[in-house]
Amino acid sequence: MEQPKRYELPKLAYGYKDLAPFLSEEQLTVHHTKHHAAYVNAANAILDKLDKARAEGADLDAKGMLKDLSFQVGGHYLHSVFWETLCPAGKGGEPTGRLKEELVKEFGSIDRFKKEFSAAAASAEGSGWAVLVYCMALHKPLIMQVEKHNVNVIPGFRVLMDLDVWEHAYYIDYKNLRPKYIEAFWNHVNWDAVGKKLDAILK
Ligand code: MN
Repeated sequence: MEQPKRYELPKLAYGYKDLAPFLSEEQLTVHHTKHHAAYVNAANAILDKLDKARAEGADLDAKGMLKDLSFQVGGHYLHSVFWETLCPAGKGGEPTGRLKEELVKEFGSIDRFKKEFSAAAASAEGSGWAVLVYCMALHKPLIMQVEKHNVNVIPGFRVLMDLDVWEHAYYIDYKNLRPKYIEAFWNHVNWDAVGKKLDAILK
């Protein structure tokens, strides 16, 4: 199979109207087709520049280009997981199987996990993410608070689900009321998709 040479904006598994009222058609459309697309395009532009510099034997502005690349690719990756682990209200079921086991073992209960994840999302300063990861060293789930798209990300942790708390993710619908957006998010988590990610890591 031919490998893609550049990043691509993933298609959503649902329509732009299907997450309302959690996310209005306008909010979801702008977020996916403008903001996420901008990270994809910017990442690809940097790859083009790297190719060109290498072909010409030119020096790289390493700090500028590579820091920017990590930001843009981080944004692309986190948004891709975000879309994959959302679904229309009431279609996502509940955590089951290994996912439920791991969350209950680590956090005590699913409610306690949600409370801690929500607190991570609510307290992210400025632009960031709450991210549920699985630590391959300790074999347990952890919640991470990511700044921007790439600060505080520790390699080696597998992302299971995340929540975008950049203002662009909710401002059209919620203005400054980030907690209301976080509360509504829980009706739209595709637990089946999250569980499949964990099963794929652990098998
Ligand atoms: Mn975003």
